[in-house]
Amino acid sequence: MAFDRLHPVREAARLQYHGASAMPPLRHHETDRDHGSAPPAAAPPVPPELEHPACPLCGLDEVAVAGVAEPPYRAVRCRCGFWYLKPRLAEEAMAETYRDDRYFEGEGLGYSSYLAQEPTLRRTFRHLLRSLERRGMTGGSVLEVGCAYGFFLDEAQGLFSRREGTDFSRAAAAEAARRIDRIRLGGLEQLGADERFDLVACIHVIEHVYDPVAFVERLRSHLHPGGWLILATPDMGGFWRSLLGHRWPFYKMPEHVTYFDRRSLARLLGLAGYVDVRPLPYASYFSLDLVGEKLGVRLPGPLGRLQVRLPATTVAMAGQAP
Ligand SMILES: [Zn+2]
Repeated sequence: MAFDRLHPVREAARLQYHGASAMPPLRHHETDRDHGSAPPAAAPPVPPELEHPACPLCGLDEVAVAGVAEPPYRAVRCRCGFWYLKPRLAEEAMAETYRDDRYFEGEGLGYSSYLAQEPTLRRTFRHLLRSLERRGMTGGSVLEVGCAYGFFLDEAQGLFSRREGTDFSRAAAAEAARRIDRIRLGGLEQLGADERFDLVACIHVIEHVYDPVAFVERLRSHLHPGGWLILATPDMGGFWRSLLGHRWPFYKMPEHVTYFDRRSLARLLGLAGYVDVRPLPYASYFSLDLVGEKLGVRLPGPLGRLQVRLPATTVAMAGQAP
């Protein structure tokens, strides 16, 4: 696949879990390019199609800080404080990856195996759903944008009367279809203009979205008045990024095009017209196998299947449609 040659050093990207995809662009994943897909020895490099965006939040084109680079990509901080990827892969080229059935289970970009993470993903989602329930945000209909295999929506059974999802991956959508009321292959364009939900969840999706303000604005039009949008994304402001520096697994270039923290995530929701914006707790569970993989340590058999809860990997925020 052409993408292999675009990113010779994709190592880091790994603490990812859950999947989400859904919108025009979307999704995260896990990369595993160390084995398999042996790139042809002397294939000439294919120049990636790049674009040089202005700040996706404020529209300014003034880079204050040039951060971590994984050539040709670089994380930069706008003068307004927001971190994003510049240059980035052209959106259509990126979207091709999300439509590829190998995204969740395969080589190159995406997840080496999303299914292998099912137990920890489900545990993470149960924790989030309990938080939502305690805050009175459950009930009625739910839409998950970028639902991958439908684990979150499956765990949400009993908390909502109707559960729907979107995903760009045909293979993931086929799997999700067995678990939920309705799946749509694609992104928001698959929703009818008058369709409304009581809660929309985007878990590890927004960091893949090229125009996040337009995206969450559009989602607001699919919420009933008083309905909630839930966003969860890697926490650029968490201590893991400070601790790991350029090895922070969530830079995930070129798939992650924005890097949010609590402040910028709240700002996004405010810009898009949401009210009562508030943070949500988000506990991420990982198998020790996956953690070891990120750290370059191979763990003996049973130990690797242990689940650990890592704090501050993900920031989550809720906003209400007025
Ligand atoms: Zn800005």
